[in-house]
Amino acid sequence: MKDFTGIEPFASKVWLSSPTMHGEELTYMKEAFDTNWMSTVGKNINEAERMMSGVIGCKYAVGLSSGTAALHLATRLAGEALYGQPKIGQGVLYGHKVFCADMTFDATINAVAYEDGEAVFIDTERDTWNMDPGALEKAFEIYPDVKLVVIAHLYGVPGKIDEIRDICRAHNALLIEDAAESVGATYKGKQTGTFGDYAAISFNGNKIITGSSGGMFLTDSREDADRVRKWSTQSREDAPWYQHEEIGYNYRMSNVIAGVVRGQIPYLEEHISQKRAVYERYKEGLKDLPVTMNPYDGKYSVPNFWLSCLLIDKDAMCQSVRGEKKALYLSEPGKSCPTEILEALSSFNAEGRPIWKPMHMQPIYRNSPFITRKGSGRAQSNAYIDEGEAADVGADIFARGLCLPSDNKMTPAQQDIIIDIIHRCFA
Ligand SMILES: *Cc1c(COP(=O)(O)O)cnc(C)c1O
Repeated sequence: MKDFTGIEPFASKVWLSSPTMHGEELTYMKEAFDTNWMSTVGKNINEAERMMSGVIGCKYAVGLSSGTAALHLATRLAGEALYGQPKIGQGVLYGHKVFCADMTFDATINAVAYEDGEAVFIDTERDTWNMDPGALEKAFEIYPDVKLVVIAHLYGVPGKIDEIRDICRAHNALLIEDAAESVGATYKGKQTGTFGDYAAISFNGNKIITGSSGGMFLTDSREDADRVRKWSTQSREDAPWYQHEEIGYNYRMSNVIAGVVRGQIPYLEEHISQKRAVYERYKEGLKDLPVTMNPYDGKYSVPNFWLSCLLIDKDAMCQSVRGEKKALYLSEPGKSCPTEILEALSSFNAEGRPIWKPMHMQPIYRNSPFITRKGSGRAQSNAYIDEGEAADVGADIFARGLCLPSDNKMTPAQQDIIIDIIHRCFA
């Protein structure tokens, strides 16, 4: 048993990542109310779209109800570009495989399922914890007909975008970029969300800037922006009555939510520098432990540091097993594991989280193909294997990693206590 004597629980919870409001959000929300634009039309939407396209450096940003909606419409556009208009009752990706990021939040690839595509999961690389270009190459060798790739930038760290784009080009495949977690992060000086043929961002409550909910579709194509705007408002044709030639969705952003987004956008850089400070303090405070922080390629990219994560060295892992819903471990002096650290943090009123469980390990995708650098692969179990290499990179990072409390409002004093708790876990 680890010794935590002398540490007091936090009086107010230290969150993984919570909304940070500044005041202007309320002014713009109230403006929507006072002018009665309590709808999916209004000045806040126009302004939020204009400001966000400026921040990202793309021509058009289309306000939608969520990042998931943006990904869905991106997927629909990609699917129509590749395979033509869908039949009623059949998704546009029906009968087609799609190469998907494996270590991400499931919203990244839900749209592929909504459109009846078959996800093929691509393993993760160790340098940025994103899609491994080597595994993607391998996947094209095995499935040369695939024409669509979906990537994400996990925890706000840009992936190996150039390599992935080159591979996509070589195979005439389109790229959907999920920049939901990486708003404000750059790769070779350009914002994430500008690299895909289609891109999506999110303003969900735990993201780096938030509207409480909401998302945007990003593009340089006027035609694509117009189609997404039309689809998001039930695909109404330009006619005096409700006239429909295509399937539509109720996905447009609310002018009230847009007021919150509009108020948040000027604070993006401030939130990023606070998150970076959190990351740097962890890095410094934990450097004497057998752990590393979630890595990034400092030569080419500047993450937004949305979440700070830990990876425990192999030989400092205590024995542990994970079932589908529960975890067990044997506490050992000098060693620890994600479950022990998360339980300790939680007992002191601080919120951490396991690494996003890789998609190929999820029960719903149990039968989906999974491709590693070595070819077709499958994790043998969720257990941490302390002999030799884990079955795949994603399973290994999931076994040994965890997300730390990364709230930008956490004080240095609170963070010092969290760092102390983690030290005690390894005592
Ligand atoms: C949050 C998130 C989404 C979904 O965004 P919502 O606005 O919550 O729908 C998509 N992908 C990733 C990687 C996310 O973290």
